[in-house]
Amino acid sequence: MDTARDLLASISGRGTSRRSLLKVAAGSAAVAGAGAVGLGAASPAAADEATGYDAIVIGAGFAGVTAARELQSKGLRTLLVEARNRIGGRTWTSTFLGKQVEFGGTWIDEIQVNVWREAQRYNIPIVSDTDPMDRAIYPAPQGVATYTPDEVFAREATLLGKVMEGTEGFFPRPYEPFFNAAGLIEPDKLSLRDRLDQLRLSAEDDRWVSAITGGYSGGSSTYGAYTMLAHWWALSGRTYGGFMGVNVDRPAPGMKGLLQAMLDDARLSGLKLSTPVSRIENTNAGVQITTRAGQRISAKVAVVALPVNVWKNINFGSAGLPSEFLALSKEGMAVQSAQKIYMQLRGQNIGRFVAQAPEGYKLVSMLSQHILPDGQIAVGFSADPTLDGNNLEQVRAAVRELDPTLEVVSVKAQHWGRDEFSLGGWTFRRPGQLTTKLRAVQQPVGRLTFATSDIATGWAGFVDGAVESGFRAAQQALALTKQVAA
Ligand SMILES: Cc1cc2nc3c(=O)[nH]c(=O)nc-3n(C[C@H](O)[C@H](O)[C@H](O)COP(=O)(O)OP(=O)(O)OC[C@H]3O[C@@H](n4cnc5c(N)ncnc54)[C@H](O)[C@@H]3O)c2cc1C
Repeated sequence: MDTARDLLASISGRGTSRRSLLKVAAGSAAVAGAGAVGLGAASPAAADEATGYDAIVIGAGFAGVTAARELQSKGLRTLLVEARNRIGGRTWTSTFLGKQVEFGGTWIDEIQVNVWREAQRYNIPIVSDTDPMDRAIYPAPQGVATYTPDEVFAREATLLGKVMEGTEGFFPRPYEPFFNAAGLIEPDKLSLRDRLDQLRLSAEDDRWVSAITGGYSGGSSTYGAYTMLAHWWALSGRTYGGFMGVNVDRPAPGMKGLLQAMLDDARLSGLKLSTPVSRIENTNAGVQITTRAGQRISAKVAVVALPVNVWKNINFGSAGLPSEFLALSKEGMAVQSAQKIYMQLRGQNIGRFVAQAPEGYKLVSMLSQHILPDGQIAVGFSADPTLDGNNLEQVRAAVRELDPTLEVVSVKAQHWGRDEFSLGGWTFRRPGQLTTKLRAVQQPVGRLTFATSDIATGWAGFVDGAVESGFRAAQQALALTKQVAA
């Protein structure tokens, strides 16, 4: 067993099927419209705006594009409005040193049925990140130490297994998270830190496993809910291999290629980029949005496909937003200081490596991505609010905490928390959010329905959850238009 990925594949037992699927997908590769944003055959006629659209979808991430495509396919003239000059939201396929990189969501997996179905529908080829790892930098009693990948993954599997022991009853049906609602009330009050404390691990084991739980939950295990990790664990088949295996496969043309294929297929009645929405008026007569530039556009219904963390900054008009929505937005669901940092590294015998930092370090984790003739590109994740991932000196200091021999030559980062159109990165629910708020915010409010991975029923925090929520919100919006017509 010489690679971390092989270890994962053997634990999960899914390596062979993934490779077979890869062959099928690659053989039929025909990526639809992976270039600039387009509208397929449709053209947004000015007359449409005068007469009003049937539906407006606000936000062109995976949730919004899914919802818009579904509504248009049901015969509703649909306008998609996006603040940025690109689609994709918290996925962002770009380049670093000439290589294709992802500044946000990257990996998808066949067990994530919503997004996987989309990749297959549009014949998107899949590539697998299975390159052998040479070494692993993980917590030691003091600081960090270098281990073999086999050592660290075996230990991580054992420790995460302990953390998840006894969670089998929480989500007996992972896509129906409230199937055992009564059994969730007490555990949902616990943070991951509370759970680790229950286990009374040795100081060294605690330091190890909290490196992982703290990383997911925003820099400290005290932020994230125990039930959030338990939900991902249940969705992954309750094995370490299944859990880690969702970070292996990715669309070859990037997330952008997949989303562009979905958008092209949607043939929407209208698409507006670089158009931030500042106000959403929601009355019995219909919905009217106001853009930051002052343009007003009306429709029968609207899908709010915005991250939960930004809801609080939108003016929801005279009706406002119900209190649960506002409270959730103020608490925040996505990790507020999440950053993804690409780095050009040099150093002697760096090798391919994976690093997981103890809680309190500037970087949560690091991973080799591309070997270059004179070094490599690695990606780092951070949830430290004081780190500026675009500041070379700061990143150098952060990397030195993990391996002082690594020389950082250049950096390029995306700080999702400082981006006004996301105000956070990946979703990780806080204690209590699942049982006290999730169901409420999945419901329509007047003529509005809500879509985003943050409030998905299944894979919240993943692209799969965004697609799932887009389908749900579109169905709800369609039902609302039927009520209006009746
Ligand atoms: C660093 C990082 C790594 C990740 N890794 C993975 C991974 O490997 N695999 C995975 O599946 N998931 C991953 N995720 C999570 C995944 O990227 C997200 O869950 C998913 O992309 C969210 O989609 P969404 O449509 O719900 O929201 P978003 O993508 O945030 O879309 C919302 C859209 O609304 C727009 N918007 C905001 N405000 C306004 C406004 N006022 N007016 C108009 N439009 C507005 C935004 O610009 C954006 O386009 C990662 C996320 C991050 C940040």
